[in-house]
Amino acid sequence: MRQKIVAGNWKCNTTLQEGVELAKAVDALVAKEGAEDVVVVLGTPFTHITKVVDSVNTERIGVAAQNCAAEASGAFTGEVSAEMVKSTGAEYVILGHSERREYYGETSEILNKKVALALANGLTPIYCCGEALDIREAGTHNEYVVKQLEETVFQLSADDFKKIVIAYEPIWAIGTGVTASSEQAQDMHANIRAAITAKFGEEVAEGTSILYGGSCNPSNANELFANKDVDGGLIGGASLKAEDFLGIINGF
Ligand code: PEP
Repeated sequence: MRQKIVAGNWKCNTTLQEGVELAKAVDALVAKEGAEDVVVVLGTPFTHITKVVDSVNTERIGVAAQNCAAEASGAFTGEVSAEMVKSTGAEYVILGHSERREYYGETSEILNKKVALALANGLTPIYCCGEALDIREAGTHNEYVVKQLEETVFQLSADDFKKIVIAYEPIWAIGTGVTASSEQAQDMHANIRAAITAKFGEEVAEGTSILYGGSCNPSNANELFANKDVDGGLIGGASLKAEDFLGIINGF
């Protein structure tokens, strides 16, 4: 079902103790002042998930892992499986983030395995897509992002596709302080929704939450979220400050 969602991506930040404090601060602010119709998700490091789950009202706040293994189990030293993630109490997993694609060689083939395992274990993938600056400048960003989806999540059945959340994150806007303009965000989100309509039909497309990510903050969230095809945000830097994150949650 199409929902308004604001998900934080803490990346490789915070010690366990700092993360628990941050989660508690978000929990308290959301309980007091958070827009009730917005789904709030905290994407924490693996090491923090169980403690964060225990520290927040999980009826109100969901917890996400930032990755999961491409294999179900076995001799894969250092990997954390989707089943393990699920067993912590997390409900979501961020997959296909551009930092994982770029620094850890995550290809469409690997991501297809991760998405399938996440879904098989009852996790909701927050599936990221987005173009680099050269592609934006060449004017081929719409086709590029649709191709990223065609190679991966568009290969799911309609029933499985309905279980995922899409996050459009232009790489040139991630952590740079440069945000996509409201118009750029709406154009791409409409492009993605049109591609979902062509592939799975209008009902599925209208039911899909498409989040924007890239230097979103309390000052620009309102303009971005006012667009009809922008259903919320995936938030990096600004999710590390509880007040800023609340400001984004209340940005609709
Ligand atoms: C992200 O990495 O998902 C992200 C959107 O980061 P930032 O908000 O810091 O640009």
